Amino acid sequence: MYAQIAVTVPSVSGMFDYALPPELEGKISAGHLVTVPFGKQTVQGVVFRLIVEPSVPETKTVIDLLDSLPALTAAQIALAQWLAGETLSPLAACIGLMLPAGLSQQADVFYQTVDRGPRTVKNGLPSAVHGQTAARLLDLLETRGPLRGRQIDRHFKNVDWRKTAQYLVRTGVLTSQSILPPPSVRPKFVRTAQLAVPPEQAEAAMPELGKTADTLSRRQAALRFLTREPADVNVSWVYAESGCNLADLQELAERELIVLRETEIWRDPLEKISDKESGNKGWGNQELVLTSEQDAALNQILHAFQPLLPNPELPNYLFLLHGVTGSGKTEIYIRAAQECIRHGKEAIILVPEIALTPQTVRRFLARFPGQVGLVHSRLSEGERYDTWRRARLGQLKVIIGPRSALFTPLPNVGLIVADECHDTSYYQSEPPFYNAIRTAQEYARICGGVCILGSATPTIQQRYQASSPQGTEYGGGVRLLELPKRIQTSEFSENFGGLPPVSIIDMREELKSGNRGVFSQALVDALEEVLKKGQQAILFLNRRGTATYVFCRECGTAVRCPRCDTPLTYHSPAETLTCHRCGYTRQMPKKCPVCGSDQIRQYGLGSEKVEAEVGALFPSARTLRWDWDTTRRKDSHEIILSHFTAHRADVLIGTQMLAKGLDLPLVTLVGIVLADVGLNLPDPFAAERTFDVLTQVSGRAGRSSLGGRVVLQTFQPEHYVIQAAAGQDYAAFYARELDYRRQLGYPPFNRLVRMEYRHVQATKAESEAQGLAAKLAKWIESEDRRETTLIGPAPCFFSRLNGLYRWQIILRGPNPASLLRGKNFEGAALSGAPSLSRGASKGWRVEVDPVSLL
Ligand code: ADP
Ligand code: ZN
Ligand code: ZN
Repeated sequence: MYAQIAVTVPSVSGMFDYALPPELEGKISAGHLVTVPFGKQTVQGVVFRLIVEPSVPETKTVIDLLDSLPALTAAQIALAQWLAGETLSPLAACIGLMLPAGLSQQADVFYQTVDRGPRTVKNGLPSAVHGQTAARLLDLLETRGPLRGRQIDRHFKNVDWRKTAQYLVRTGVLTSQSILPPPSVRPKFVRTAQLAVPPEQAEAAMPELGKTADTLSRRQAALRFLTREPADVNVSWVYAESGCNLADLQELAERELIVLRETEIWRDPLEKISDKESGNKGWGNQELVLTSEQDAALNQILHAFQPLLPNPELPNYLFLLHGVTGSGKTEIYIRAAQECIRHGKEAIILVPEIALTPQTVRRFLARFPGQVGLVHSRLSEGERYDTWRRARLGQLKVIIGPRSALFTPLPNVGLIVADECHDTSYYQSEPPFYNAIRTAQEYARICGGVCILGSATPTIQQRYQASSPQGTEYGGGVRLLELPKRIQTSEFSENFGGLPPVSIIDMREELKSGNRGVFSQALVDALEEVLKKGQQAILFLNRRGTATYVFCRECGTAVRCPRCDTPLTYHSPAETLTCHRCGYTRQMPKKCPVCGSDQIRQYGLGSEKVEAEVGALFPSARTLRWDWDTTRRKDSHEIILSHFTAHRADVLIGTQMLAKGLDLPLVTLVGIVLADVGLNLPDPFAAERTFDVLTQVSGRAGRSSLGGRVVLQTFQPEHYVIQAAAGQDYAAFYARELDYRRQLGYPPFNRLVRMEYRHVQATKAESEAQGLAAKLAKWIESEDRRETTLIGPAPCFFSRLNGLYRWQIILRGPNPASLLRGKNFEGAALSGAPSLSRGASKGWRVEVDPVSLL
């Protein structure tokens, strides 16, 4: 027997055939983690499938099995295969997505000598090949005792001792055992304290609790605090509240006023969250009565869980739940998960980022106590590995996390939910490039599960998929479920249906009246009022593409490419304008081509600048900046948010992150500093993203009975994106944008492939791009694919990144990826490869269905 194995070392990403040693036959199947020789190294790999005939005459042999349970499920293997074909990525890279980061470090083989009396083993060694290494290895194991492979490595630099070890195992001199340690749920202890006497008795004991004034007041404070807390509380909380220490609490325990306990807890990242939540809001037991809209939507979903579909022709397992924030989508996800668990299956709940969706996470925790696993970018490797192991054993029923959570090895996936499905974080913009939303839909199909996408602003493509349940020639087959209204709850009662009013401020008028500042008079007035009332404001800035486009401050016109209508990009110091779609270049104009004004210039604004302006206008306002620079640190999202929520700042200035689903009740003003920045990017998806972010950020205001308003500053008040966002009118936006996409042949009416080349030398990047473009043109011609068009080559909009020059080529057509399949970018065709084969893309980054062309 042979096995096709995906080697999982990052530097060698490929599939290779290996022979199975007789002792492992019957123990190894698809999904198993093994060690294999690779060149001079020993590396880990995942068995992709067993085969009878290897594809090459000479094969090496698998060394060992690392874990008796498969690392990947059959469904995951099928998914990896689909993903590789769909995204043109190497299969090994797709499999790599499904293994937890810590796994390679955890898995190892344990070697031990077989006790046969002193030193007899060496005499019997037959082969000169193994002789010296064997002697050293046995010496080592006899003096040190049993060792792990990685420990032995340190004693054998550049010597392939594993082959020898294998030989010794076969001849019965050594035993080997693969070890993947069980989830390291090292017990962790917390100390808790609780009042042991009636409050009156505690009060009576107060005066003589200590000799010095200091200890007395500490112990009194601690006891008083515990008098107010009926349940066991973590001692660190008591320390924080009273300033006491453990000795003080021990003294109180000695006097039998309190009890100290030690409680064993599992290492569980949820513990931190659920602690805070206990006693809060009572989500756990409260069964809401669904509204009629929720009920109708849920019924369709529940129907899809029935094993026998009424009409198998209609794929009725895919849903799009389209509803504004607060319309009750999360409640539906929870009911669907309950149904999924009732069928004995597990649910995956995808969210853009755990730190930014604490409310959703808490509600799931409350509804499914002890059954939820969190996948979190900030988990330690050990925590992640534990969750992975527990999920694999079927111990977790609900997994919540960002896009990578999709690849948790659950035995029987019955439901996949993607909340805020429009969010770009669902797209992995590094190799292997993939879209977790599209992948989730396919995974649901493979598993026979249900997939629900939820958003207030689904992407055009997602909404289009749901425009007919039968599907269209451009895909589809997704059922649309709509929740058009916010749920009326006490929290929202004052502004029911309550989207905050939006004032559109025409910045051209501001200029005419002599205001050249960042803020309009209206925004300054609104800020002043908010600060006076002791409320909070958010100032939003669209980060992408700030410093770079050129427009007329008189009439709002952005300078566009005469060839392809893409906004041109300003480049200093030469003062040229370049089209990043087709490469057209011109000098910076002196006058506006439309109105003749000389007020034409590039626009640039960063959050530091905005912060400085606020400081200049309102010296006593406390500002907090939330952008890329301030959030690089681990936990910084939480820190910034908790500072702002605790009202330690009055004005929060930030970029895209602000738009996500946060509930900030004191925020009564959202100022959008310049709404049109995102509209003038050379990217067919720019309008969609701008609409999303403007809609979402506007929704941050007025989340409480205090009400709220939005001030939206723009130079293009008549633009359909601005109009639709201000009116929170998704339907209007969708109709306009879909029409525009149809006219220009962009998705969903065609598919795109984006190919990018990066190089330190601008000329090399350009010539490489020209070379590939010529080849692509030839392929299009020779394969008679006139429906596929070539756009570019051109420098990317963000033309330099980390010192590298970027060039790109776009292919557009009904199935542009098929043009590349099995091709080598050097020109030689490769046979039979499901994707571009290893090395075939020659340094090109190839993205199928990209979400941005910048
Ligand atoms: P979304 O996920 O669409 O933002 P949620 O599910 O969070 O909406 O619902 C918004 C609020 O309304 C939450 O506080 C939730 O507890 C509450 N809610 C949801 N459904 C109902 C219902 N049927 N009756 C009363 N309150 C509800
Ligand atoms: Zn152009
Ligand atoms: Zn003009």
